[in-house]
Amino acid sequence: MSDKQYKQLGCLDVDATAGCAFQVRAETEGELFQLVAMHAKHSHKIDSLPPEMVAKAKAAVKTVTVTV
Ligand SMILES: [Zn+2]
Repeated sequence: MSDKQYKQLGCLDVDATAGCAFQVRAETEGELFQLVAMHAKHSHKIDSLPPEMVAKAKAAVKTVTVTV
């Protein structure tokens, strides 16, 4: 068993009014934002995240430790 650190971000962390419970975890921030961008496109019809949303999202990223 070992501890692994993940980056975690949820829609509610970025926009509390979104009413979307989507949450994503990835090993790196780059991977995380790829998944977030994909979700934004498919579920929120946002083709590219505006810079202010990216800044907000980056500030909201949490590092969680998962025991695997
Ligand atoms: Zn969402």
